Amino acid sequence: MTKIALITGANRGLGLETARLLVEAGMTVIVGARDVARGEAAAAEIGASSLPLDVGDAASVARAAATVEERHGRLDLLVNNAGILPEAPGVLDTRMARATLDTNVLGPMLVIEHFLPLLRRADAARIVNVSSTMGSLADQSDPGSPYYGLVVPGYQASKAALNSFTIGLAKLLADTPIKVNAVCPGWVQTDLAPGNREQAPTPAADAARVVVRYAQLDADGPTGGFFDAERAVAW
Ligand code: NDP
Repeated sequence: MTKIALITGANRGLGLETARLLVEAGMTVIVGARDVARGEAAAAEIGASSLPLDVGDAASVARAAATVEERHGRLDLLVNNAGILPEAPGVLDTRMARATLDTNVLGPMLVIEHFLPLLRRADAARIVNVSSTMGSLADQSDPGSPYYGLVVPGYQASKAALNSFTIGLAKLLADTPIKVNAVCPGWVQTDLAPGNREQAPTPAADAARVVVRYAQLDADGPTGGFFDAERAVAW
C-alpha cells in the first residue's frame, strides 16, 4: 500500500528536499505550507499535493487533519519540519523567543495532537521531529563543543524542548507500532537565517537524506532517540 506522508513547512529548504526524496521513494506526499500559493508551486515542482498548514494556528492544523482524513483516512509519516530562527546570536529578545517556541515546539505538539488519530490508523506510522544539535544540552555545556560559545536563547530552548517532547511522546506511544525520533539534519544551506545559505556546508538535498532515513525505519528501529547523519546525539 502506498504510504501517505505529510511534511510541514515543505514549500522550501529542507522540507521541500525531504518531500522530493519521499516522492522519489514512491510515497504519496503532502506538502504542508502556510502560504497556499507557495505550497502549490512546490508540490507541482516535485509531483506532490499540497495543503494549507500553519503550525501556529490551531484552526489551520484542524482543517488540514480533516482534509487528510477525508482524502486518505490515515497518515503513515509525519515530518515536523517547519521551524524558524529569527534571533541574532548573542541577543536576548523575548518576543522573538516566544515566536520561536510557538512555531518550533508548540507547532509540532499541535500537529501531532491533531494527526495522532490518523497516525494510529496506519500500520506502523513514523514521526520525525526536525531538531538541531543546537538543542543539545550536552553540546551547550561542553567547552570542547564547536557550539560552546554560541548563544541563541529561544532557538536553543525550542530544540531542547522539542527533544524532551520527543522522549515523552515515544513513551506515550510505547504500546503502539508508531516510532518517533528527533533528527538533526546538520548545518544546511537554506534561508533559515541571514547568511545561513552562504555559510552552511551541506546542501539541503543531502541533509534531507538523514530525515528520510528516520522516516523509513524498520520495525526494529529506534524510537524516542535523537540522531544526526552519523550517530545518536547526546541530549
Ligand atoms: P527554511 O527557512 O528554509 O524553511 C523553513 C520552512 O518552515 C519554510 O517552509 C517556512 O514557511 C516554514 N514555516 C515557518 N513557520 C511556519 C508555520 N508557522 N507554519 C508552517 N510552516 C512554517 O529553513 P530550513 O529548511 O533550514 O528549516 C527546516 C527545519 O530544519 C527547521 O525546523 C530548522 O530548525 C531545522 N534545522 C535547520 C538547520 C539548518 O542549518 N538550516 C540545522 C538544524 C535544523 P514560509 O516559506 O512560509 O516561511
